[in-house]
Amino acid sequence: MPAPDVIVTAPLPPFLYEPLKADYRCHDYYQSSHKPGLLAAEGQRIRGLVQGGGTVTPTELLDALPKLEIISVFGVGYDGVPVDYCRRRGLKVTNTPDVLTDDVADVAVGLVLMTGRGFAKAERFVRSGEWEKKGPELTTKLGGRTAGILGLGRIGKAIGQRLEAMGMKIAYTGRKAQPGVHYRYVPDLKALAAESDFLIVACPGGPATKNLVNADVLSALGKKGTIVNIARGSIIDEPALVKALQDGTIGGAGLDVFADEPHVPRPLLAMDNVVLLPHVGSATNETRKAMGDLCKANLDAWFAGRPLLTLIPELA
Ligand code: NAP
Repeated sequence: MPAPDVIVTAPLPPFLYEPLKADYRCHDYYQSSHKPGLLAAEGQRIRGLVQGGGTVTPTELLDALPKLEIISVFGVGYDGVPVDYCRRRGLKVTNTPDVLTDDVADVAVGLVLMTGRGFAKAERFVRSGEWEKKGPELTTKLGGRTAGILGLGRIGKAIGQRLEAMGMKIAYTGRKAQPGVHYRYVPDLKALAAESDFLIVACPGGPATKNLVNADVLSALGKKGTIVNIARGSIIDEPALVKALQDGTIGGAGLDVFADEPHVPRPLLAMDNVVLLPHVGSATNETRKAMGDLCKANLDAWFAGRPLLTLIPELA
């Protein structure tokens, strides 16, 4: 059997790309300087597509791949995949859940500490030599404060566990109460924001959650509150966030994700009460390797006729 043809639409790390190249005829669409030519020459043969979590896959690209069977996402988020289109065409879509949960939750905790205890600011204070002149500012104790989690899924639950261990109170919202969870469910996001000291965004991106955290929600969070986002930039109305920070409507922000990465709204760069990370939620060697292994294992299973290891819930 000849190796199946696979199109690659995102930059992949060598520990995923090299094994893929060993077992598949890979076509590097991401790097190609003549994408229409690549599709015209190879499109009819391509049976698999590998993309990143943040990659947006247009339906026009999929239309040019009539033999496509499976999209394997190197990431848990698949908000860039046109799911309804895939359902209509019977395409399988797999992702890499679970293996990254702990690392992403760690980043959320890091952002709570960096904003709440002012660690990023304190570190700048030492580097700038200011400490030679005066003592550091006092901040607010985290124990006893409330973290409201938007999206208590795998990552949301891991964040809850960690913050609970720090003595924080946990409440959450989502489309429904989660079974077997002792945290308080607050059905309304605005109501959750009103009672939260930290509003932590951990739900999926995509059309259903676009701008869910809007000016009203930020206003309910108020001056006492900090927004933390480790999920997707699209979930927060970014201009409204910038305005809320500029006019003091909210207390601060800790952000790992942005609407138009790697571009960060310029006003945020100058704000002392904002902590900015370059989408590093799952960025450890161990986790990225595990994600790569799972991404390839799904392709391997599909083309060997074995059950898939993961399948997105909408297509299950
Ligand atoms: P998950 O287990 O599917 O959890 C998602 C949670 O969001 C569920 O509890 C779900 O609960 C809730 N939810 C879904 N749709 C919603 C909606 N329309 N409104 C409100 N809540 C909604 O996913 P996960 O593994 O925890 O990952 C969560 C997200 O984190 C991913 O989708 C990805 O975008 C992001 N992520 C970011 C990084 C990073 O590097 N920063 C890394 C990995 C993942 P209900 O079904 O009850 O609503």
